[in-house]
Formats: sequence, C-alpha cells, structure tokens
Amino acid sequence: MIKKTLVFTDLDGTLMDHYSYKTEDAEDTIVALKFHDIAIIPNTSKTLSEILNIREQLHLTSPFIIENGAAVYIPVNYFKKQPTGTQQQGDFWVKPFCQDKAHWLSLLTEHATQFSEYFEGFSQLTNEQLAALTGLNTAQATMAKQRQYGEPLNWLGSQEVLAEFIAHMQKLGANILQGGRFVHVSGHADKGQAQRWLAKQYQENNPTEAFQTIALGDSDNDSAMLECATIAVQIRSPVHDFPQLKRQHDVYQSQQYGPAGWAECLHKIVLSNLDEQT
Ligand SMILES: [Mg+2]
Repeated sequence: MIKKTLVFTDLDGTLMDHYSYKTEDAEDTIVALKFHDIAIIPNTSKTLSEILNIREQLHLTSPFIIENGAAVYIPVNYFKKQPTGTQQQGDFWVKPFCQDKAHWLSLLTEHATQFSEYFEGFSQLTNEQLAALTGLNTAQATMAKQRQYGEPLNWLGSQEVLAEFIAHMQKLGANILQGGRFVHVSGHADKGQAQRWLAKQYQENNPTEAFQTIALGDSDNDSAMLECATIAVQIRSPVHDFPQLKRQHDVYQSQQYGPAGWAECLHKIVLSNLDEQT
C-alpha cells in the first residue's frame, strides 16, 4: 500500500531563509507537493497571526501548530468529524496543549513579585518599545506580542538571580526557555507532542489509508518533532549545527541551507518516487 505523506515543517531557518525569511527556493516544491495532495503542516514557534500571514503568502490550507507545540489549529471541516478535545475559534478547531498566557501572567504578577524588578514582559511594553528592543518593525512587533500560550521576558537582572527565578517558576509548573536575550515563560508543550496528536487525527479520520510523517527542522527546538516522525530531515543552518537526534534510522541531512535544503530533501524522499509511479 502506498503511504500517504504528511510533511511537518519548522519555518524559520527551514522553510524560510535564516537571514532573509524568503521561501523562493522552496516554492516549486510546495506546488509539487500540493499537486500530489500532500499536506504541508507548519510546526513553529511563531504566533497565530504570524502563521496566518505566511499561510496566505504560500497558499497553504492545511492545519498548523503554533508557539512550539502549544496548540494545533485545524481548519473547520478539514476532517469529517471535529476531533475530541478541540474548540472552535473562528475558522479553526483548536487543540491546546498547555495553559494560556493569562495563567502565566498571573503567576508572574502574583507569585513571583520578588523578581518583578528584574524583568519586563512583552505584555508590559508598547509596540514601539518592543520594536526598539527586538529590532522588529512595529507591525512585526505587534504580531510577536500576540502570544497566546506564554510570555517572553526581557531579563534585566544578573545570571545568579535568573537561576533563582527559573527554579522558582519551575516549582510553579512553568517551563522556562532561554533564547538569546529573552526568557520565555510557558507550559510543557513541545513540537513532537502536538505533531503526534495531529498525525493521529489524520489516521483516525482516514482509517483505510496508511500514513507516514516527514519532519523537517534546523535547530534543537525541532528535535522532539524529528524524533517522532517516520522520517527525520535535518536542515543545514548557516549559523549552528544540525539539531541533535538520538535516532539513527531514516534520518536525512540536507546539503543546502534552509528552503533550498528543504526542497532538495523532499524531492529526494517523496517527489522522485511519486514521479516514477506516474
Ligand atoms: Mg528553525
């Protein structure tokens, strides 16, 4: 039986160029995958509003995963049956995997007051202040602020106080990620858990078909999604090593960077076989 393929893909540095955010090198491949009715499912740290923009640019109509696995968005009626555990929000059925931002903000304002002089949260900043802090333009800063499942902090204190803060927040059930200058407070979701759940929905809604998943990513926050896919694709980055993996079977490494590497591997793994069959 020919397996139906689901492509789960990171965006920054994978489907989008690390420096320019361009997707040109992957666009012919996107068209070819869509022609073969292969779903392209973004699985990214980005927010809903950021992904909606990209989806529109690339004419993607599949489900997607936001904020590092915090929630899965499925277009309403994409499956015959609304999956259990989802709620309709506008045009989407949404399955959350962690508590929302209000929960993390209340922990920060009510249970971490001894640290409040050491950080400023993105929610406390105006769009202009955030733009100045991050180097994004105001429109991009506005979208970056619309996180629904966590709060990035600009850390102002020492590394010693940060270590105390992290230990304190972890006791309160938070997951703390340090990314460059910012400290992200959120729950224990990851890209792998959300991907496994969504792949299961495809299988349950199409019980007569067999599915294989291909996951593509360029950095360590993609490791969980790469570990649990049928085929893992490590995309070459101009700025860091391949994401670390424990698995050794069915692993591909792209020769080219970012979207060119994305296209290269999907041709090799999927499209070349499909073209032979037709
Ligand atoms: Mg990336």
